[in-house]
Amino acid sequence: ERLRLDGRVAYVTGGGQGIGRAFAHALGEAGAKVAVVDLVLAKAEGVACELSLKGIKSLALAADVSKPEDVQRMVDAIVARWGTVHIACNNAGINLNSASEETSLEEWDKTFNVNLRGLFLCCQAAGRIMLNQGYGKIINTASMASLIVPHPQKQLAYNASKAGVVKLTQTLGTEWIDRGVKVNCISPGIVDTPLIRSRELQPLVRRWLDNIPAGRLAQPTDLQAAVVYLASEASDYMTGHNLVIEGGQSLW
Ligand code: NAD
Repeated sequence: ERLRLDGRVAYVTGGGQGIGRAFAHALGEAGAKVAVVDLVLAKAEGVACELSLKGIKSLALAADVSKPEDVQRMVDAIVARWGTVHIACNNAGINLNSASEETSLEEWDKTFNVNLRGLFLCCQAAGRIMLNQGYGKIINTASMASLIVPHPQKQLAYNASKAGVVKLTQTLGTEWIDRGVKVNCISPGIVDTPLIRSRELQPLVRRWLDNIPAGRLAQPTDLQAAVVYLASEASDYMTGHNLVIEGGQSLW
């Protein structure tokens, strides 16, 4: 009962595939209306269509989370359609893989623009509405790489940006809790999504697999209950928390 999200309005960035898609389905199945947001409109539309077929009220929006005008337009469109925002899943993120000594400033900036600046913009735009109404749940997607340095490396910008996600979550989570807004993050281990199927990441994935006590990669479905929990009143006493779901990988 306390895990139901009926009447709630949610959005998921990077909702067009992978983890974001799984989050959108989970929130919708728990009763929320869901805006699926992606850089690529066609992907957002595809997932919104899947939700509609299940009877879930959905909306597809295109936005680049690193652009303030896109983020404001996204929030405005959700408010125009459904009146407010209760649940913000700031999940869009990118992982560019290069040795630290070869990482270009462009790669560094791109990573931070999406993974951290995008999160700041989304938390601020959705947070203003939530603070106004005295209620909100923000769930950011960090990564196990915020805690440990998964071996082998070549993930300097990514790891640093995800550590930033955790600190941003802790800071907002404590700053806003007395005004009814809870901010938490989820740190997945290695999840079987299009992100890790890129050719550059494949050799890393094979090595990472040897270091997962669970003996397999996570599936996006392994994360679904966590996002519903953090979006629901069952987690009302939790804020600034980094919920790690990695099959034990950070312990080995
Ligand atoms: P993915 O690449 O499969 O999907 C990401 C989605 O985000 C894509 O649909 C893409 O179009 C969209 N996107 C990219 N840049 C965007 C932008 N600027 N604005 C809006 N949308 C944008 O990735 P995934 O594996 O589902 O990862 C989702 C999140 O989970 C990311 O933050 C990622 O860092 C994090 N994560 C993934 C793993 C993993 O192993 N897959 C592990 C830990 C954390």
